[in-house]
Amino acid sequence: MGRFAPGRRAALTPIALTRRERGKEGKREAAMGILQVDLRVTIRLKVATGILPKDAPVKMFAGYGTGKVCAACDLSTTKKDVEYDVDMADGRTFSFHQLCITLWHQERATYLRP
Ligand SMILES: [Zn+2]
Repeated sequence: MGRFAPGRRAALTPIALTRRERGKEGKREAAMGILQVDLRVTIRLKVATGILPKDAPVKMFAGYGTGKVCAACDLSTTKKDVEYDVDMADGRTFSFHQLCITLWHQERATYLRP
C-alpha cells in the first residue's frame, strides 16, 4: 500500500497528454477523428487497468439511450444514441454507446490468445 512506483506514473502519461489535447478542441465535428483516437486510448487504458473487463459479456442488450453513463467515455447516453447494456459472468453490468462498445470489443480482443 502507499507509494506509486515511478514506472506506474510513466505508464499514465499517454492519457494525460490526451486529456490536454481534448481541452483544445472547439469544433466537435471537425475533431471527430481525433476524438475517436482519444476514446480508443481511454478505453485501452480502462481495459488494461481492469476498469473495463477483458472477458466477453454473457448477455448484451441494445436499445435507445436511457441516460445511463457510458462505462467507456463517461458521458450519458441520450435518446438519439443506441445504448448497449451488457451483463458480465461475474454479475457486473456496463452500459455503452455504440461506438464505445465497438472500441471496447476491439481493445479486449487484443488480449485474446488465438
Ligand atoms: Zn461512450
